[in-house]
Order: sequence, then structure tokens, then C-alpha cells
Amino acid sequence: MPSFHSPDADCASLYETEIFPFVEKPSRYIDHEINAARPDWSAARLRVALVFPDAYEVGVSHLGLKILYEILNALPGVIAERCYAPWPDCEALLRGKRIPLCSLETCHPLREFHVIGFSIQYELCYTNILQMLDLAGLPLRAVLRRGSPGPLVIAGGNVFSPGPLEPFIDAFAVGDGESMIAGIARWALDQMPHGGPDNAPAPLLTVSDELLAAFARAVPGIYVPSLCRRTLSAGHAMRSCPDRPSDASIPFPVRRQVELDLTEVPVVRKPLVPYCEAVHDRAAVEIMRGCVRGCRFCQAGMITRPVREKPADAVAAEALEAINASGYEDLTLSSLSSGDYSQIAPLLLRLLEDHRLAEDRTAISLPSLRIDSFDPALAQAIRKVRRTGFTFAPEAGSERLRRVINKQLSRDEILGTVRSVFDSGWQLVKVYFMIGLPTETDEDIDEMVALINDISSLRKGGKMRGCRVNVSVSSFVPKAFTPFQWAAFADVAVLRERQQRIQQGVRDRAVKLSFHKIELSRLEAVFARGDTQLADVVENAYRLGCRFDEWSDLFRPELWDQAFANAGIDPECYLAAIPEDAALPWDAIDTGVDRAFLLDEWDKAIAAAPTPACAAGPCNQCGIQRWFNCARGTIQR
Ligand code: SF4
Repeated sequence: MPSFHSPDADCASLYETEIFPFVEKPSRYIDHEINAARPDWSAARLRVALVFPDAYEVGVSHLGLKILYEILNALPGVIAERCYAPWPDCEALLRGKRIPLCSLETCHPLREFHVIGFSIQYELCYTNILQMLDLAGLPLRAVLRRGSPGPLVIAGGNVFSPGPLEPFIDAFAVGDGESMIAGIARWALDQMPHGGPDNAPAPLLTVSDELLAAFARAVPGIYVPSLCRRTLSAGHAMRSCPDRPSDASIPFPVRRQVELDLTEVPVVRKPLVPYCEAVHDRAAVEIMRGCVRGCRFCQAGMITRPVREKPADAVAAEALEAINASGYEDLTLSSLSSGDYSQIAPLLLRLLEDHRLAEDRTAISLPSLRIDSFDPALAQAIRKVRRTGFTFAPEAGSERLRRVINKQLSRDEILGTVRSVFDSGWQLVKVYFMIGLPTETDEDIDEMVALINDISSLRKGGKMRGCRVNVSVSSFVPKAFTPFQWAAFADVAVLRERQQRIQQGVRDRAVKLSFHKIELSRLEAVFARGDTQLADVVENAYRLGCRFDEWSDLFRPELWDQAFANAGIDPECYLAAIPEDAALPWDAIDTGVDRAFLLDEWDKAIAAAPTPACAAGPCNQCGIQRWFNCARGTIQR
């Protein structure tokens, strides 16, 4: 932990003179972007830092964080500010000049906030979380922060397998953040001492086991790992698994919180417009949460059940307001499967007919269109405004393997859709595949190659000149709370051989083939099903210099090898298949989907037997029906 300038130092001046002139992109750290909040630090009773452990240009694009920011800043007595992971050049300056990591809006040190809330989206940001705690001047391990005044450190987002992070975080917020954040803020406000002069700064909380137990009891969806007892699973990896707390009043397992009515969720009326280029430089409006399909590899589809749709009127109004307030020229209608949104056609027609969008030629994109929900009429309609590429994800090359993953698409359906896309005048088709799926063989890879070659021949036959096909191939990573959570991560040598097989088999040099780094997927796979013992690896990797591991040019596999060796942990233990009867490190969380359903789906996968999509017919009894009135995969009201 670095030592800092005096606590009274004016951090805003220090950033201005000592940081901004010397970093590659000062725009990552300056406040007052268009539509940013202007919080009144001195008037706030509760100060929350919303922290995104990745670069500014990634975090500023994240819709969920923007919604939480709006909710908190609308609560009386509460302010929310943002902080993104400083890029290595900035980190070196902060350390060298002993300046603490500060919030964007008022440039106050993170350690002066009552609550630090990390928004976690993927496993490869874990070292950045440690970097941010360290630069804030806070001990990395939660147990070392106990007993003295300081921020309550919580994490939300994708925290469904939080084992490797548990020793660093006080509490996890499990489920839809919008339904939890106000409850968390109200609970924290209640912990503040009352009385005293009005202008006195609200003192920080003293985080203790008692305070955390009260937090877990008071706010549904709060998981405090330190309250749980531990067992070593009987599985051969000997994973450390949470067990029921000795205090029976602490909820266990912790039930995922679900926002039932998306019209009740506050919307981002004024999207932040950054000064530098963001990863997604566009307005985004969520149209639907959940997915009516049942792809067996897909964690997002399993942990967001049931489907909840936002009415088309509300989406259209939100979209127009966001475009007007931001000046963006692109609009994304976000969901896990846009084509399954029941109002997609009327919504698109309504947006396309709006003269404001038409005059500005605002491009509309549907980032998650499924091949079997593709509608040529819709494609034509979107194309009238402005063309972006069409993205499809068959995921597996052969029909057999697509039955294993429960993505029931025939070769003819795939080719028919691609033909329609090119015939509609689109010039770019992006296709996503995975390798290393359970039961995969070389024959499946050969069928993938044949499919890519067939798609590329359609490229040449399209109406437009210069049609392009981009193919992206990643390695399958087994994830918690999916039917494939018991599967092994494929052998690295086999994955390499399959990448080569694809490379050599695709004949058309105009097809742009890209392969996700196997080492990155392997590390992701270790942490995706990891336990608390891996915290030692994360801390070792951080101390050795690992940062921004998701960025392939900054990824340092040799340092990670060293970190595993230093911690005395063999990563292969976490990549092997897990026995079906073993306790699991994520057993403290109840997503609503039953283990029995996942096991049944796993058995059906091995037999390449399909399960019909919920939308198609009778309930598959996934477990969500215990919680909600769900029919055809969708919440019934
Ligand atoms: S409860 Fe039934 S219909 Fe609803 S998501 Fe689960 S399987 Fe599908």
C-alpha cells in the first residue's frame, strides 16, 4: 500500500499538475463529460464510488453502471461518483508522486467514500480490482480492513462465481442491481450516526462482522462470504466451498434478486458522452432481459431467467430521448437475443419512421440477432437508415454439436440466412464459433470449415460488390450455473491443433479469420469455476505486475505461471471435469435455476438430445417456476 501526500492535499490540483500533462490519454481521468452528474460532496450524507475495474473507454460504455449512477444521484442525501482503472502510465505516476486514486467528478480519494461498489463483468479484471484498492490506500484483504473506519467494499454485476474474489470484497450484491442499489443506499444511510452539525462530514463506517451480518439480514441478495463456514469439496480439485453460516438468521443460499418490471427501472435519459472514443460510442437502450432459448454453454441465458420485456412504447421514447440528449448517431437495442423480442418489428418500424432519427440517419443495431429469428423484412428496414454488419453465432460447426449445445440450427438455415443478408444488400457478415466444446471431435471441426467455406461462396454471389465475412473463433470456457459447469476445459494442445485445422481448411483468403488467445481463455476458465484459494494467485499476479489481462497486448502469461507457482496451486486442477456430486464454490448463491435441471441438461448434452426453447411450448421446469409465474420463458403478470 503506497503512502500518500497529506490527507489535506488538494487532489484536483495534484491531478491537474502532476498527472494530466503526462499521461497518454488525459480524457480518461477528467470529469465534466457531457451529461455527467455534478455531485455536491459537502452536502452528501452518503457517498458512493461506482468503480469499473477496466479502462475508461470500456467502463463508460457500460449501461448498467450508468443506470446505477442515475438511481443513486436521484436519492436525497446520496451522491455517486465514478472511477475507472487507471492505465499503467497513470498508475506509475500515481505511485511515483504518492497521489491517491480519486473519483472522476469531485476528485476525492476513493478511501473517503462510505461505499465502494465494484461493477464486475468478467474474470480477467480481477488484478485491476486489487490495483484500485491498493492505489486507494486500502488493504487488499477484507479482513485487514475490519475494525477501523473505511469504505464498505461491495461488488455486483457478474458475481455468480465469486470464489477468487471473496477474500478481497466485504459483500456481493447478487442479481439485478437496480432492484438492490436503493436498498443498499437506504441501509447504509441508516448506519450513519445522526445528529451533529449539519456541515460536518459524514463519518465513515467501521466495517465489522456484526455490521456485515446486519447488512446480509437487512438487504435481500447480499452475500457476505466471511459469514459462511467452509468445507473442502469431495471433488478431486479439493475446492473450498461455502457452507451455511453458523448464525441461522443469515440467508443461505442467497437468492438472486430479479427486477420483474423493466418499466419500473430508471432509464438513462442523458447518456454520458465522453471526450475520447469509447468502445461503444452510441446510445444503448435495453429492450429485454433474459432469453427464451436454452443454450447449454450460455451463463447469461441461465442466470437471467425469466424473460422480461420492456414495452415498445417505452423503448421508443427512451431511445429518442437518449439520442436527443447525447447527439449520438448510433443506437443499440440491447438484449441477449433481440430477434426474440416480441415487439421487434413494430418497434423498429416506429423508430425508422421517426423523422428525427431519419433526418440524422441514425444507425440502429441489434447486436444479438439469432439466425433463426432473422427476418429479411427487418433487415431491409434497418438497412434503409444506415448499414452496419450483421452478426450471427452458430457457435458449433456441425449439426450434431449444435444439438449438444442446444442451438438447434440446420446448415441450410444458416446458409439461407446468410444468403438473405447478402441479398438484402448488406456487405459484412460476422460469424462466431467456439472450439473445445464438450464431445467435440475433428469431424465437427471439418464441418465448421466446410460451413465457413460455404458462407464465403455466398459472399461472392451477393448483390453487392466487396461483401466480406469475418469469422471469430474462441475457446469454450465452462461457466458456473450452466449445464456445462461440470465439463473440462479442453486440452491446450488440442485447441491449438484445431485452430490450425481451421486456418488450413478455410480456402478463401478474403475471409477474415481471427482466433481468441487460448491462454486467455484458459485463465478465464480457471477463475470462472474458482474458489477462495485462488485469491493467493490473484494477489501474487497483481504483485508481479499483471494488469488489464483482458487486453491481449498487456496479458503476461509468464507472470501468471509464476503467480500459480508462488501460490503452490496447479491451474490444471481447476480445468478438469468436476464430479457431478461434488459441492461447488458457488453453492452460496441461488439463481432460481435448479441443479437437477442443469444436471438433466448435462446428460441430454452428452446424448446430443435437444430441449425445446421455452418460447416453443411446455415449461421445461428449470426451477424458476418456484419463484414466478413463468410461461413460455416469460414472466406472466
Ligand atoms: S420456468 Fe419453465 S418456461 Fe420459465 S424459464 Fe424455466 S423452463 Fe422456461
